[in-house]
Amino acid sequence: MSAENQAPTESTLPRPVRVAPAHAPMSQFAIVNGQLMVGGMPLDRVAARVGQTPFYAYDRGLLRQKVALLKATLPRQVKLHYAMKANPMPAVVGLMAGLVDGIDVASAGELQVALDAGADPAEISFAGPGKRDIELHQSVAAGVLVNVESLRELPALAAASQALGVPARVALRVNPDFELKGSGMKMGGGPKQFGVDVEVVPQVLAEMHRLGLAFEGFHLFAGSQNLRADSICEAQQKSFALAVRLAQHAHTPVKFLNLGGGFGIPYFPGELPLDLGPIGANLHAIQAQAQTELPQASLVIELGRYLVGEAGVYVTRVVDRKVSRGQVYLVTDGGLNHHLSASGNFGQVVRKNYPVTIGNRASAAEREVASVVGPLCTPLDLLADRMDLPRAQIGDLVVVYQSGAYGASSSPQAFLGHPRCVEVLV
Ligand SMILES: *Cc1c(COP(=O)(O)O)cnc(C)c1O
Repeated sequence: MSAENQAPTESTLPRPVRVAPAHAPMSQFAIVNGQLMVGGMPLDRVAARVGQTPFYAYDRGLLRQKVALLKATLPRQVKLHYAMKANPMPAVVGLMAGLVDGIDVASAGELQVALDAGADPAEISFAGPGKRDIELHQSVAAGVLVNVESLRELPALAAASQALGVPARVALRVNPDFELKGSGMKMGGGPKQFGVDVEVVPQVLAEMHRLGLAFEGFHLFAGSQNLRADSICEAQQKSFALAVRLAQHAHTPVKFLNLGGGFGIPYFPGELPLDLGPIGANLHAIQAQAQTELPQASLVIELGRYLVGEAGVYVTRVVDRKVSRGQVYLVTDGGLNHHLSASGNFGQVVRKNYPVTIGNRASAAEREVASVVGPLCTPLDLLADRMDLPRAQIGDLVVVYQSGAYGASSSPQAFLGHPRCVEVLV
């Protein structure tokens, strides 16, 4: 029997071509003559202006664009807050304070930056487990809203209010009885250190009332880094329904309902940008319902990385180019000490590459597979694992995209004693 007459077997069938998943296109920064344009300036000139590598650069125009996109999508009445832990650089907070409706802080240190930036204290809220008495005292003095996460905070707030002669403004952060499905980080549902379990909300509300604290509303935050619009819509619906139920136990009308956020950005191969359309439509529906069910409440969405993440790059210079047993290593002057998250060590279960390019040769025809490693004496210091990149030389600028959130401030800059990075807003 000739080969042609045989029934196809697994080995004779054409092999399915396995296309490696690609990163979502990073089109937010134009490329002109091979140079990435950041803040309207070629990257090598930005580097010259900064005067050192490594650095983070955040693009003002892109930050403005992102806020404008959200404002065009959200119902007019829904307030947009910036959760500044995503990027607490004072200049960024200053810019954002002028663009959004409020700032969410997670410590007295962040509160100080927000106040310095000129944010209106009436539109600042403070959430976080383990708020110290002094932080609660500072918050009352500043006149900001405190999202209470424990019964213990109540007497401290009442004491601060009495000592200062200033009313304490409080909302209750609720640990919901559901999760935000498909989140990179779950922050609600099941046992959690965040917020107060739904089951004990009536008791905490009664205690707030007994202590004479001015209750303003509820805060629900189910999770972070979500790219599924349907999951976000479902969590918003459930959060709203839960708040309506809980409002029956409150002694005063709900004036403020923070529905959380969790909007994600694409970091890894195969991830697609979040589709804002359905989320906008969902919030319009919820806003309409709120008009009758919680008529005095302002709805709030709080976003961190979605607002700032895509507007920033981390830039580090190639100090060595080595080949080890056939594999190319670009050794740079910064790595996990400045950008823990891009190294895969900030809560990721499986390490994957962030989108990376060579920012001063971004359109080079000559490419190669190379790994980018930082200068730290640990194999964890890896910014790109065998990626297809423009062929780089010593002195070139490696760019890590999607670096505007959870970068400098969430990295162990003292680890191994290398210089700190610089941050610029351009
Ligand atoms: C961290 C945090 C945020 C911001 O999360 P992103 O994923 O950056 O949008 C918002 N709200 C609360 C309560 C948080 O703890």
